Amino acid sequence: MPLQFATRLNNVETSAIRELFKLLGKPGIISFAGGFPDSAMFDVAGIKAAADAALTEEPGGALQYGATEGYEPLRQQLAAFMGTKGVEVAPDGLIVTTGSQQALDLLGKTMISPGDKVIVEGPTFLATIQCFRLYGAELVSAPIDAHGVDTEQLEQLIVEHKPKFVYLIPTFGNPSGALLSLERRRKVLELAVKYQTLIVEDDPYGDLYFDPASPPPRSVLSLSKDLPGSREWIAHCGSMSKVLSPGLRVGWMIAQPELLAKATMCKQFSDAHTSTFAQATAAQYLKAGRMPATLANVRKVYGERARVMGAALTRELGDAVEFTQPQGGLFFWARLTGKGGKVKDAGEFAKRAIEQGVAFVPGAPFYAKDPDVSTFRLSFATADVGKIEEGVGRLGKAA
Ligand code: PMP
Repeated sequence: MPLQFATRLNNVETSAIRELFKLLGKPGIISFAGGFPDSAMFDVAGIKAAADAALTEEPGGALQYGATEGYEPLRQQLAAFMGTKGVEVAPDGLIVTTGSQQALDLLGKTMISPGDKVIVEGPTFLATIQCFRLYGAELVSAPIDAHGVDTEQLEQLIVEHKPKFVYLIPTFGNPSGALLSLERRRKVLELAVKYQTLIVEDDPYGDLYFDPASPPPRSVLSLSKDLPGSREWIAHCGSMSKVLSPGLRVGWMIAQPELLAKATMCKQFSDAHTSTFAQATAAQYLKAGRMPATLANVRKVYGERARVMGAALTRELGDAVEFTQPQGGLFFWARLTGKGGKVKDAGEFAKRAIEQGVAFVPGAPFYAKDPDVSTFRLSFATADVGKIEEGVGRLGKAA
């Protein structure tokens, strides 16, 4: 008799894009497919020094079991880091999670009963779709444009579906690259209060803006201080992954105390705590004051890659694609127009592109509902500018 797996697994399937990733090993393929930062940009020397300091200064803390809520020196450093971004939070106002992915899982675990509705953006982060569905959520998709979620439609959907919560990536979304405008951020806060609805702000890309002279609007959490009563309705997820290292698996969540307590309880049964060694290393890294230089470096390098990719797309594909030039993050989100008899279906485009030696991810799997099959995502993070030029040239041939 075959193994009888839990029925909750019926709600999810292995990611459609996994199949595509199998092809990436082909020699000579230029990949715009992954969601990874560039390993060549990791501050290895800085992380080495931080790990060394962790083992020298606090070996007991760094190698022993630790508190589920997180390693105290890291909580202090993260609270201070959030302070630099306009968020006042005490160390015990946040918990450390094993990547922000775990924060999303804990939100699913603590908030979602089978059949509950959750509003997500269309498109949104694929792993979130899968994670919330695993808990039995029925996902409702709110449309977005270059300025993020359409707040008028979001309000209608909240009224209609009375969701358990709304999940947004307001700053340089994955996959959309979109930036929620200040006006809409304020509107989201109003909606949270008006409908007493939890808003999850997933923010792994917020620090990755390209022009230091024009940072994105403050986070929804930070703006909540301007609207009395709104902060308790925001759960904010942060991550070290995109700017420092995803392998460290250090993320955090800021939310109202009751939610943090429930999430901590669930985390206890899951991984007991995030690796104390990773936490102590991250704490030492922040304490050493290396973050500003690291941020300046990633902003510069990714910013240049994004500019090169935008110019190459315009040159090589012309009006066969539409896109908004991202101001931060790791992704271009584009739509095939079909103009000039060019390909209109991104799945077909992806196949032809692989034949030309370039890979990317079609957009359909990023929609919880009603996929737009003409969309696709290109990451400019891992290829250098030469490869970006070459890869986009190949896309031009495939279109
Ligand atoms: N949220 C979004 C929007 C992401 O793109 C990612 C990483 N791809 C995550 C969360 C998870 O990141 P991590 O667990 O590494 O912090």
